[in-house]
Amino acid sequence: MSKYPVIVRMAKSHGSRNTLIPSMVVLHHTAGSGNTENEVSYLQSNSAGVSIHVCIAKDGTRYRMVDDERSAYHVGYSKVSLGNANQVSLGIELINKGRKVPPFDEYPDAQVESCAEQVVEWMAKYDIMVVTSHEAIDTRGKFDPWRFPWKKFWMYVGEAWQNQPKNV
Ligand SMILES: [Zn+2]
Repeated sequence: MSKYPVIVRMAKSHGSRNTLIPSMVVLHHTAGSGNTENEVSYLQSNSAGVSIHVCIAKDGTRYRMVDDERSAYHVGYSKVSLGNANQVSLGIELINKGRKVPPFDEYPDAQVESCAEQVVEWMAKYDIMVVTSHEAIDTRGKFDPWRFPWKKFWMYVGEAWQNQPKNV
């Protein structure tokens, strides 16, 4: 049960996993204006065909956009999975401007905790072996999610894992 609202806003763009199973979660920042409605609308439908499983607002609200069983188009050029990164991953977009210079756009605790909750939900459902940044797997200069507070995130993952129902 989520501490944060979960709103369904399905994206137009998604694909088959081709018998592959998710084992990796990739985090991104949206790098847009920071307006949640605009960002979610873009991720629902855009000419680039970009999509994501979950987009998380600053207040922790989660927008569910592509079914877990389908692949979303969130990783382009990747060092991992022989070009199949989208087939083996689940993606999260965090609403954040991704400013590389001050004033930086911070990730509020609610957003980080909601992200951890989503990852734990997936850990209960799949054998997730990696949670990584887009930056770590991209080959063409992506740097998202910029300044994401990883240590705080992992603390929330630990808490959410302990608090989940014990029948999983
Ligand atoms: Zn990205």
